[in-house]
Amino acid sequence: MPGARRKPRPSPAIDARAPHVATEAVVERQGEESARVLYAAFAEYNARFFEGKLGSPLILITQAQSLRTLGDYVARDVLGLESRIRISPKAVNLGDRFAADVLLHEMIHAWQHEIDHDSEPGYRGHGPKFARECNRITATLYPSVPAPAGAEVILVSPVGVKRREGLPDCAHWPMSVRPPGYYPKPFKTPRRKPEQTPVDALQRVLSLLPRLDAPALEKLTAAVSRERAARVAG
Ligand SMILES: [Zn+2]
Repeated sequence: MPGARRKPRPSPAIDARAPHVATEAVVERQGEESARVLYAAFAEYNARFFEGKLGSPLILITQAQSLRTLGDYVARDVLGLESRIRISPKAVNLGDRFAADVLLHEMIHAWQHEIDHDSEPGYRGHGPKFARECNRITATLYPSVPAPAGAEVILVSPVGVKRREGLPDCAHWPMSVRPPGYYPKPFKTPRRKPEQTPVDALQRVLSLLPRLDAPALEKLTAAVSRERAARVAG
């Protein structure tokens, strides 16, 4: 009955990975090709890049947090399921190679939570430690790529670091380091807009002023007053 409280039961020890193991077995037996490819890729990447240290995967092909998101990792969801990875149907539609790359990205988030115990919340997960893992794996994937000068090889730079010096952003790794034509369907890593400071915004308005005629200028002035009034009120 909704709302009725059940008597607390004696809680036997639970194996938090049991749903993962069961799901994996179902996928292997009766899953569609795209799902089997992902589970096989997880096993391969876990052995190859993470010394097999990641726990059994729970990979779901379902819409991630937002429509723009290609995949996500949740350390523990509302159901209590741990280390759950969602790969969006959009990513799957871009082909097996692409979906496997989204998975590899999420596996670094799993590594952060399960092994490193630091999800770098200050960088929304994509901090220096995440970037270091990307670089470590990139070096394995493309050993012939010459490392830039300097002992600490940073091929991919963390999000939020002010001077990225033209390096690809680790929030879009490994897509950002794949050669052109790697995916059957073209994919462009989205470029982040540079941060807009109030000074930038003001300069943009000032640059527009000479191009405005009197009615347009009047409209702009009215819009600014309305905005100002709304902000003062809010
Ligand atoms: Zn990420």
